[in-house]
Amino acid sequence: AERPFVPAVVVGSGYGSAATALRLGEAGVSTLVLEMGRLWDRAGEDGAIFCSMLQPDHRAMWFKARTEAPLSSLLWMDLVNRDIKPFAGVLDRVHHGDMSVYVGRGVGGGSLVNGGMAVTPRRGYFEEVLPRVDAGEMYGRFFPLANRMLGVNTVDRTWFEECESYRYARVSRGHAQRAGLRTTFVPNVYDFGYMRREERGEVPKSALSSEVIYGNNHGKRSLDRSYLPAAVGTGNVTIQSLHRVRSFRQEPDGTYVLTVERIDELGNMLGTTEIGCRWLFLGAGSMGTTELLLRARETGVLPRLDDSVGHGWGTNGNVMLGRALHSWDRTGSVQSGMPALGIDNWDDPVHPVFAEIAPLPAGLELLTSLSLAITRNPERGSFSYDPAADAARLHWSASQGKPSVEAAKALFDPINRANGTVYRHDLFGDSRAFEDRFTYHPLGGCVLGEATDDFGRVRGYRNLYVTDGSLIPGSTGVNPFVTITALAERNIDRVLSEDF
Ligand code: FAD
Repeated sequence: AERPFVPAVVVGSGYGSAATALRLGEAGVSTLVLEMGRLWDRAGEDGAIFCSMLQPDHRAMWFKARTEAPLSSLLWMDLVNRDIKPFAGVLDRVHHGDMSVYVGRGVGGGSLVNGGMAVTPRRGYFEEVLPRVDAGEMYGRFFPLANRMLGVNTVDRTWFEECESYRYARVSRGHAQRAGLRTTFVPNVYDFGYMRREERGEVPKSALSSEVIYGNNHGKRSLDRSYLPAAVGTGNVTIQSLHRVRSFRQEPDGTYVLTVERIDELGNMLGTTEIGCRWLFLGAGSMGTTELLLRARETGVLPRLDDSVGHGWGTNGNVMLGRALHSWDRTGSVQSGMPALGIDNWDDPVHPVFAEIAPLPAGLELLTSLSLAITRNPERGSFSYDPAADAARLHWSASQGKPSVEAAKALFDPINRANGTVYRHDLFGDSRAFEDRFTYHPLGGCVLGEATDDFGRVRGYRNLYVTDGSLIPGSTGVNPFVTITALAERNIDRVLSEDF
């Protein structure tokens, strides 16, 4: 049988992929997007598309028998996680020894599960991280474009100061200020107008109903409400969900052939198909794209791939911590799941930190301030290929998290001192105060200008591109999706004008 052939294939449907697919579609290029997760458009028996964080069910996680939430315990008790039926759920936690990585699964990738924080990085730091990218063009054109396309908005300051749902953020801001630190409002893709109507009881609740990490039923402009419908709307882009790209090879005529596994929502294998294409864009995320390229190089299928494939991976310096507050510092039992404030101490010469003031939307007063700190951790991990498992293995040792923890400590010790508060030691399963064994922000693995040229063209092969977070060498200093989107916009702009 003749195998299907499409001009362009985009692997994955996260930020890099979505921006790339839209621009390909607009340029008239027939494009097929292949996404291993499901399309999240049908309500379950409870009338909701996504399950809530407080009552997680099979929809929560990607083929797990138990949920694996970032906070694993409360008062050391295993109260947070639940046994669930394995299913093609929306959040995955991928384990690699001392590091585990959270990723979104579904049409929209990480945009389905994330906190929506839409931060444009400091220009000075961006220039340091990606010195070969024209920052003038990025800040003049592609960052504004990405912000517009993603529907980034900011909270109304007057409402923020009086609403119940950001009491937790105001309390933490007060604590930071008492230690002489600066906080900053953080833009978001969650519709703050919708959130205000939630608080008034006018619309179904999502951010104010503890929804985040297992999906938002309302209010969030995830990619399936922004870039992806626009891409499909060009008439040239088709998305196939529950299609997992296993491998790809290059034919003598330079075209690519993908081996694609089709699964159902219970994980049954429905079959394997081959799809041919001329232009192949890898947007499977830092973990997914790096694995695909590493497998291709190490199995000898694409031997000219650069040695740097599999290197330059980082956690964006992620570390999470909670502080126990005094009884008069009520954070509120209703906490918006979408963060709106950060403690910005990135100018600190020794320990730059940007710490998001995170919600702990447990539905009851816990007198706890939770933070996700983004630190400048110089440590980098690398991947090797495990032939027995036909999988990539991330090498990241526990000690590599140390710089992240030190930086977080340097920021939060003075906050504790100024407020007479202490760290919580009961949140992460053992007695540690700082959780550096997971990241929400995997970056790198196929670094721009190393594994690819300066526009994401994979070295050694024509018409093969990387479009996602794997291009960024391990750190952005802020939450990364705006950077990933803007970089993808920049790269596809160049590629469309030169390679098509
Ligand atoms: P992804 O968004 O990861 O998309 C990759 C897609 O490819 C996925 O849908 C995946 O299923 C699919 N895929 C992978 N392998 C294959 C394959 N072989 N075949 C087919 N499909 C495949 N960032 C922020 O900026 N702000 C935030 O507030 C924020 N909060 C976060 C909260 C959580 C809980 C998590 C997990 C992440 C958060 N992030 C946040 C990070 C952000 O979501 C990611 O940086 C971003 O999604 C990465 O974009 P990407 O294009 O690189 O890939």
